[in-house]
Amino acid sequence: MDKCHANESIKCTVQQCAYHCNDKNYCSLESIQVGTHEMNPTMVQCTDCESFKAKQ
Ligand code: SF4
Repeated sequence: MDKCHANESIKCTVQQCAYHCNDKNYCSLESIQVGTHEMNPTMVQCTDCESFKAKQ
């Protein structure tokens, strides 16, 4: 991604994601999907950004 349009409503530090703005800790998507991989989530580690896409 040449130009990264940071969405300042979505802060993110996952630098390995293709949608992460490298120079700023923001996501470049208009919106993201958050979900869980647990049956009964009880802590922050139980939640996931399901819009994550690994950098090539
Ligand atoms: S898609 Fe999710 S993990 Fe990737 S930069 Fe956006 S908020 Fe971060």
